[in-house]
Parts: sequence; structure tokens; C-alpha cells
Amino acid sequence: MPEPARRALAISAHPDDTEFGCAGTAALWTRQGWEFYYLVLTNGNKGSDDPNMTPDKLTPIRQQEQRAAAEVLGVKDVFFLGHEDGELTYSRQLLGEVVRYIRQLKPYAVFTADPESIIVRDSFINHSDHRCAGLVAIDAVYPAARDRWNFHEQIEEGLEPHKVSELYIWSFDKANFSVDISDVIELKLEALSKHQSQFGDNPEFLDYIRQRWRDEQGRHLEPFRRIVMAR
Ligand SMILES: [Zn+2]
Repeated sequence: MPEPARRALAISAHPDDTEFGCAGTAALWTRQGWEFYYLVLTNGNKGSDDPNMTPDKLTPIRQQEQRAAAEVLGVKDVFFLGHEDGELTYSRQLLGEVVRYIRQLKPYAVFTADPESIIVRDSFINHSDHRCAGLVAIDAVYPAARDRWNFHEQIEEGLEPHKVSELYIWSFDKANFSVDISDVIELKLEALSKHQSQFGDNPEFLDYIRQRWRDEQGRHLEPFRRIVMAR
């Protein structure tokens, strides 16, 4: 493994969340020598309106789509916790599962969802799984993964505590930092289009995405609330 300074872990609720949140950054940093990993907490198996689709059928499809999207971006590996879509609940057990991945992978940077917003711009609701995943990820970064006596059984198994240095939240309204992904916007779109069960063959959707991440100067930016952790 390269130095922790060039390793990142994106923690999301569903397959495809990370493509919206930070796929451009993942593609860009991977080109610069970073190792990017994904940890997806649910199986995403309620994400279909198709009456012929069942949750049992959808779980492996969405995993395969997530792996295909990750491959487009150069993401090193994807891990699935397989919790039930729509039912993600904050628990000590879930926190421990996420802490274990942070201690195993030792990322310098963690990316995750915004747990603070419930109603966004008076126009939509931030999915409860997204809020839960973001909150668990943040609590895992600090203090749980860092503290030797938190989930001490993992330390006894041979894992070490780990301090994450930077946290990036794909925030709706508190961004303080952005990554210029203009060079890799097509890769972000290609990765999103791998989620066929969600977006199908929908050129209008991809156009919408292309516009959504574009600023007035025509650059494509991924905005984050970036927290550089004090030592
Ligand atoms: Zn989602």
C-alpha cells in the first residue's frame, strides 16, 4: 500500500451515492497516484419502481453496477456491508463495522454524505440512510477509530487505532472547498451511467448532471465541506 497520505475511503449509504458525491475527485486523485476505496453500507435493493424487479434480484445488480462504476474511475476496491436499504439505523454495531474498515484501510481522507441537512433548499428530503451513513462515518473518524479503547476487541485482534487527517462531506449548503473535475467530468458521467437500474439509458439525465456540476466559468466542480482534523 502507498503512504496513508495518498489513500481515501468514501463511505456511502447506497450504490451510486458516491458517484454523485465524489466520483470526479476519485477519478482525478486516482490519476495522481491515490488509492481510492468505497464502502457501501446498504444493499440498495429498494431502488426500483419496476413492478417486475424484486429486492432479491436487485441486490446483486446494484453491487455489480457499483463495481463497474468504480472500475471506470480507477477505484481500487468496493466493500459492501449489505444492510437493508431504507432501514439504516445508527447503532453501536454499525459504527464498529465502519471503524473496522477505517482501521484496516488507514485512509488519509474520508468522504461521506451530509448528515445535518434533513430538508434541502425547501425542495427535497435528504434520505434517512444518507443522514445515518454520514453520521456513522463522522463518528467513526472521530473518536471511534482513533481511540484504542473504542472497539478494543479490534485492537486485540491486531488492528491499530487510526487517525484520519481530512474529512470531505458532499454537503448541500456548507461547502467550503471544491475540486475542479473539468478534466474528468466525462468519467463521472460514465460512472453514473453504469448504474443502469437507476438511470437507464437516459441522455437527459446525463445532461442534467453535466450542468449541475458546472460553474459560471464553465468549469466542473465537486463541492465539499472539508475538515482538516487538528492534530
Ligand atoms: Zn442514496
